[in-house]
Amino acid sequence: MNEYNKNNTVHAEMNAVKSLKYQIKTKKVNIIVFRTNKTASSILCSKPCQKCVDGVWNSLVEKNYKLNRFYYINYDGEVEYYKPSNIPLLQYN
Ligand SMILES: [Zn+2]
Repeated sequence: MNEYNKNNTVHAEMNAVKSLKYQIKTKKVNIIVFRTNKTASSILCSKPCQKCVDGVWNSLVEKNYKLNRFYYINYDGEVEYYKPSNIPLLQYN
């Protein structure tokens, strides 16, 4: 389990895709990111930062994965997701 840390340089979602192996045949993936408070009694917002959105996307493209859904918890504690058609990318590969 990766611990999400806002001040850390590597966020959990980046760490997760880093460990993926290259696929010869394109593979569909879903990403689910959530984080909790220190005592794990409540779920906190886990909306990915722009750096991670771009990083995760580029890493998936490089390794031949097709992103289906990128789930996260929004500021209201609800589950939301990005999909390829609405993911806010800064750079395109
Ligand atoms: Zn991030």
